[in-house]
Order: sequence, then structure tokens, then C-alpha cells
Amino acid sequence: MTSQPTPTSTRLATDPSILNSESEPTRPPLSTRVLARRVDEVPRSGIRRFFDILATMTDVISLGVGEPDFDTPEQVIEAGRHSLASRRTHYSSNYGTIELRRALAHHIERLYGVRYDPTEEILITVGASEALDVAVRATLDPGDEVITHEPSYVSYRPAIIFAGGVPTGVTTTIEEDFALDPAKVEAAITPRTKAMLLNYPSNPTGAVLPHDVQDEIARIAVRNDLLVYSDEIYDRLVYGGYEMRCMAALPGMRRRTVLMGGFSKAYAMTGWRIGYICAPSEILEGILKVHQYVIMCAPTVAMDAALEALKSGEPDIARMVASYDHRRRLLVDGFNAIGLRCFEPLGAFYAFPQITSTGLTSDAFAEELLREESVAVVPGTAFGEAGEGHVRCCYATSEAELREALVRIERFVKRRTGQA
Ligand code: PLP
Repeated sequence: MTSQPTPTSTRLATDPSILNSESEPTRPPLSTRVLARRVDEVPRSGIRRFFDILATMTDVISLGVGEPDFDTPEQVIEAGRHSLASRRTHYSSNYGTIELRRALAHHIERLYGVRYDPTEEILITVGASEALDVAVRATLDPGDEVITHEPSYVSYRPAIIFAGGVPTGVTTTIEEDFALDPAKVEAAITPRTKAMLLNYPSNPTGAVLPHDVQDEIARIAVRNDLLVYSDEIYDRLVYGGYEMRCMAALPGMRRRTVLMGGFSKAYAMTGWRIGYICAPSEILEGILKVHQYVIMCAPTVAMDAALEALKSGEPDIARMVASYDHRRRLLVDGFNAIGLRCFEPLGAFYAFPQITSTGLTSDAFAEELLREESVAVVPGTAFGEAGEGHVRCCYATSEAELREALVRIERFVKRRTGQA
């Protein structure tokens, strides 16, 4: 009887020494190479590290988490209940339900005047998070460079790197109200540049793009034949008369824009996990392929709830935006009065005050403020090196807590600047 060779997987389980087999002397042990290099080299999210400290404390006022303090509107929750009661518990098309895609096409055309064909140009995703991931994975080849503004949303660099791309950061500053400088963008373009990744209104700064700057950025994209991923998840949260324009609506942009959005912020639906991508069918087809093999489809119940949000959610958005606006003014005025310079953010629900007058780094400021005054803010460096000297504060928190947070922050700042 000839003995069968033991499969490697079985030998691995029973004989760990095989990991360091003498027959393969040049291979380092698995323990030193178990993670892919591109994953190993990406640091853990600075926000998560910070929330690990927070989790050990009680009675903290948190300006840290970037999500609405409102619950999902009642009629939207009811639509979810109704969906389940109707036994809509099955897969949908890979693109998402046609009802939601039709409603979204109508919604985007009404708001921004851009038309997308709901049958082949709209994909429903698991949050804007998935939209970002599948968009870059479907379109980047190894070594393709993507220009993004910094400080920027924590997932951008990792998503580009996981997709094999190379992020190129263009720094934005408080002096520029954190809007991209077109000259800096031009200077960052190389023969390897394939795309730009934009996020206005922006997390973490709350910045919007002035229209003349947006026009110039679009012209640069067209002139250099670049793809533009435009994360417009905060499109409905704008203030002070700023008029939101969709990047795809600008001349020459529809054919080169991957528009990403979602329901989390505007409709207070973070836990439902519904986002979307709109793009020309040639691009969307590739993105769909990645989505199809990895996710299959977004949750049907959540898509049914999102459909109701589109149908009847406008008064809810108006109500929430008015409330955010009130709190935005309170916090921004409060920071400036304390001596923490804060430009006026016209979008999202973040303020991004400068804390350099305290002599602290943003990491030290956030950590010491948390330990001494039990107020949680996020260090600007969680959003890239360009965030140094700032902290991010989310004002989607009750007015009473915002007022108390300002009292505590003022006490902290006075101690640090010798005024106490
Ligand atoms: N894009 C930006 C700029 C964000 O701030 C967030 C969430 O904070 C996301 C995408 C992810 O949103 P979603 O909940 O739709 O995955």
C-alpha cells in the first residue's frame, strides 16, 4: 500500500514546525509575514485608539463621534417595519432595488440637474464606506496615484492603499478655509496620476468648496483627463446660504465622476448602512463586478427604509439642518471667544478649531482634555499630518452638552495658557 502525502493544511494544524521547514530555509516564519504588507503598513485609525481610552471613562461629553444625535425619522423606521412584515427578506438585484434606484435618480436630477439611468448607472452600496472601497478597487491599477486633500476622512488613504494605489496628499490650511488650492493640485499631478478624491462638504473640517474653486478643480480634471471620486455624503448639510453643486454637474465632469453618497448623515440613518454610487455605465459596470462578488447586494429592509426617506424625508432634513446650524454657531463662536481660532465651517457637522495657542500638539490636547475635563474631541492628526494643530469637534450633540463642553474647554485652555 502506498501512503498518501498529508495535505499541507493538515500538517500545518498538527505540526507547527512546518512553518519553519528546513527544506525552505529562505522563507521567514509565517508569524512575521502573516499580514499583507500593504495592510500591515497602514496604521490603525487614530479615532479608534482614542475611543479605546474613552471607553474606560464615565461621564464624558463626547464631541468625538461623527454621527447625527437624531434618531432615524419615525416614518422611515415604520417603512423598515413594514418591509419586514411584508416578508421582504430576500436578496435584491446586485444593483439594489429598482424602486430605490429610480427614486434616487429622480432625487439627484431634482437637486443637481444631473441625470443617471437607474437601470445601469446607479448602484446601492453598504454605506458610502463600501462605495469608496469598491470604486477605488474597480478603477485603480497598482501604482496609480490619487490626489486627495488633507486633512481628510480617515478611510481615504487606507482605501487607496488597499486597492494598490498611491495616495498623494495636498495640504489645505485654515488660511485657505480648508478649500483645495487649484495651483497645489496642478503641482501634485504626475504622469502616474489617475484620479482625484474629493470630499466637500468635508470631514473633518466642515469646509465647502467656493464655486470658483470648484470650477477650477473641474477644469484641471478635464485638462489632465483625470477620474474624480466625489464623496458627497454631506451634500444636504450646508449652512450660511452656501449652494451645494454636485461635481458631476460641472462641464465635462459627468463622464469622469464617480459620485458617492449615502443616507447616514442627512437622514440620520448610520445604522442602516445604505450608500450609493452614480457613474457612467462603463465605469459602474466594473464597480458592480467588485460589489457583486464581495457584497452581493445591500440589505433589502434598509433599502426599503431609504426609499421612504427619499419620498418623505425633506421636512426632517430641514428640521435637523436648522438644529445643526444653531449648534454650529454656538460652538464656533464659543471657540473663537475662548481664543481657539475657528474658521466658519459651512458644511457637515464639524468644527475644526486651531489649538496651537495652548502650546500642545493635537494628540496631547485631545488626551489631556479628556483626562482632565472629560471632554472628548478627536486629534486633527487622526485625519493626516495636515491636521496637526487642530482638533475635530462634532456638534451633533445636545445644546446643553455643547455649552458645558465650552465651559470645560475654556477652563482647560486657561490652565494651559497661564490665565487660570
Ligand atoms: N465619507 C465620509 C466623508 C464620512 O465622513 C463618512 C462617515 O463618517 C463616510 C464616508 C461613511 O459613511 P457611511 O455611514 O455611509 O458608510
